[in-house]
Amino acid sequence: MTPPRILALDFDGVVCDGRPEYFETAWQAYVAAWPAPALTSSRPARIAARFSALRPLIESGWEMPLLVHALLAGVGDEALKDRHAWLAAPGLMKPAGVSAETLGRALNTVRDDWFARDSAGWLAHHHFYPGVAGQIATLLGGPIEVVVVTTKAERFVRLLLTSADPRLAQVTVIGREPGKPVPKPDILRRLADRAGLGADAAGLWFVEDMLETLEATAQRPALAAARLFLADWGYNTPDDRAAVARAGRIHLLSLTTFAGPLARWGGVIV
Ligand SMILES: [Mg+2]
Repeated sequence: MTPPRILALDFDGVVCDGRPEYFETAWQAYVAAWPAPALTSSRPARIAARFSALRPLIESGWEMPLLVHALLAGVGDEALKDRHAWLAAPGLMKPAGVSAETLGRALNTVRDDWFARDSAGWLAHHHFYPGVAGQIATLLGGPIEVVVVTTKAERFVRLLLTSADPRLAQVTVIGREPGKPVPKPDILRRLADRAGLGADAAGLWFVEDMLETLEATAQRPALAAARLFLADWGYNTPDDRAAVARAGRIHLLSLTTFAGPLARWGGVIV
């Protein structure tokens, strides 16, 4: 098996579990941005637990305070499974007169303020998955370029990486850029071009925990030979993992396999 030239890794849910930070930030943003009467008289522990379990449903930051509200308002897990339905449900945002923009801005403000005030506390709300930092550090000494491709801001990712292991300062990080988000398949193709990979991106491996992102990547002819891995330890559902395990282009990867030799990852295109 030929090893990759580029190993692209998503950050949240692949390298790092940021769910404690997500919930704290989402809660504070909800309290700050939701017009009265916000349902914030208490913060039940069960809300935090459900929020973490439902994390795979979240794609954008503004959805997080809305999920907090939906949980406090008693929306059930079944209804929340269909993200397009509950996000658009007229009973949630409309009566309160809040918008996605308001919630997104509140979330970013809360995170920036927290980070500026107490970066150690902010860092402590993140946990690297066991073995991941070690595997990345080992690869950095070799011919494979490790690139973190994330929708998080680069400065946050850099600090988290170096706080986990100072050697990880060498990792290339492609984070959220100002302006319209660039889809990950576009970023991957740019990486392939920069490394001189061929028209089908053979030599590029990509580990991601969101199935939709991998499916979008699989549809790109210009990424037809990239190897795609769904991180089974990340923010995805049993249904996602079952769909991948049945066959097809996307290979299911465990944390133990990730931390071991790349030759054993599998994912050969058939
Ligand atoms: Mg992720």
